[in-house]
Amino acid sequence: MRLCEICDSANSSAFEEGECHICKGNAMKTEQMVSEASALLDKEGVKSFSISTIIPKDWLIREEDVWDRKAGDSESIKNLLNRRISAALRKASGAEYSSDGECRMVFDYSKASVELQRNELFVFGRYRKLAAGLSQSRWKCTKCDGKGCAQCGGKGKYYDSVEERIGEPFKKATEAQDYVMHASGREDVDATNSAGRGFVLEIKNPKNRKIDHASLAKEIATSKEVEVSDLRIVPRGFVEVVTESHFDKTYRAEVEFGRKIGAEDVAKMMSLEGKMILQQTPARVAHRRADLVRHRKVKKLEAADVRENNATLTIKAEAGTYIKELISGDNGRTNPSIAGLLGTTATCRKLDVNSIGDGFLDFCLSARRE
Ligand SMILES: [Zn+2]
Ligand SMILES: [Zn+2]
Repeated sequence: MRLCEICDSANSSAFEEGECHICKGNAMKTEQMVSEASALLDKEGVKSFSISTIIPKDWLIREEDVWDRKAGDSESIKNLLNRRISAALRKASGAEYSSDGECRMVFDYSKASVELQRNELFVFGRYRKLAAGLSQSRWKCTKCDGKGCAQCGGKGKYYDSVEERIGEPFKKATEAQDYVMHASGREDVDATNSAGRGFVLEIKNPKNRKIDHASLAKEIATSKEVEVSDLRIVPRGFVEVVTESHFDKTYRAEVEFGRKIGAEDVAKMMSLEGKMILQQTPARVAHRRADLVRHRKVKKLEAADVRENNATLTIKAEAGTYIKELISGDNGRTNPSIAGLLGTTATCRKLDVNSIGDGFLDFCLSARRE
C-alpha cells in the first residue's frame, strides 16, 4: 500500500510514497488550493481568516483502513491539513489566522475547490420600543409568504418589527446579505419598552466590518419608534448569554376597572406584594406555548393616578410573569389576580416595560474587556 506525502506524514511516514490509497492524490492539490485562497483573500481585502476543510467520506473510510494495518501514531488527515493550510495561507497571504476572523476559508476536497465565506458579525445593544404596534421579530404573512396579498394589504407582513428598524440600517452599512435579532425576552406587539432590552444582532455575510455605532444609532432613532444604545461588537457566544438570561422587570400599566375604585381597593391590590401567583398559560398564547402552570412572584406593586375607574400601576415581577393576565385574571387562569381581588373586571389599556434588572449583561460585557 502506498500513500501520498501528506497522507503518509499523517501516519508517521510508515508507508512508501506513491499513488495514494487514501486520497487518490487529491490531498496534494492543497498547495494549489492555498494559492487560490490567498488570491481570494487579497482580492476581497480580508485581513483575518479561519479554516474549514471538507474531507470526502470515502477518504475517512480508507484512512481507518490504514490505521488498522499499522502500528504507531497517526493523526487524522483533516487535522494535518488544517494545520498545514493555516500555516501556508498565513505565509502566502500575510493575513492573520483567527477563529473569530473576518471570513472562513472553506477547503472542499470533494471538489478540490476553495470558497470564501464571510463570518457573521455580532453586535450587542439595548433597544427601546417607543411606539406600540411593532412586533419584535419579522412576522411574514403566512398566506403569501412575504410576497404581498390581499390579506396583508400587499405588505407581505402583519406588522413592522423592531428587528427591521434595527437590522435594515446595519444591513445597508455593512453591505450584508441578511440579519437576525436575538433578544432577551420580548414584549407584546401592543406594549412599549422604555427600559432598554438587551439584544444581539447577527449580521450575515457582511462585506464591511467597520461599523460607526454612533451614526447607526442616530439613523435608527429617526424612525421615532425604536432607539438603540450600548452598541458594541461581541463574540458569537454572547447570543446565548442574552437569550438564555432572565431578568426581573418593572412595568407601568394603565388599567381600567369595571367600577369606580378607592383606597380600599388599592389596599387589596397592594396585598399582592411579595406574593407568589399561579399562572396557567394565557388563553391568548396557548396555541404556541405548552399549557402549564407557572409560579411567579410579584415583588412590588404601586398604584398612582387613581381616578374614577382608572389607575396607573407600577408592578415589579419575576421574569416570565404575564402582566396583562395578572391584572385581568384571564378568566381564573391567573390566581390571585387584581380583578379577582377587587371582584370586578380589570383591563390593561397600556403597558410599558419600565425597567429591566439586567446588570448581569453589563457584568458580562465588562468581564471580557481587555
Ligand atoms: Zn493522500
Ligand atoms: Zn400576504
